Amino acid sequence: MDVVVADTGRCMGHGNCVAAAPDIFDLGDDGIVVVSNPQVDEENRGRITDAVNSCPVGVLRIESA
Ligand code: SF4
Repeated sequence: MDVVVADTGRCMGHGNCVAAAPDIFDLGDDGIVVVSNPQVDEENRGRITDAVNSCPVGVLRIESA
């Protein structure tokens, strides 16, 4: 199973990832990304890939768990 992970220390809070996949990503009260549902499956892989590619500072990546 693949998972999506965030290098939160570099998140600038742009929110592009939330727009691409709102069921996967959220912004916390501090404006930093929270991965609420990290598991990547065949149903959500396209949206998560779009979110990863939409992050302007490269915070997000998909890893094999
Ligand atoms: S798009 Fe990138 S910088 Fe913006 S909230 Fe998501 S992870 Fe953070």
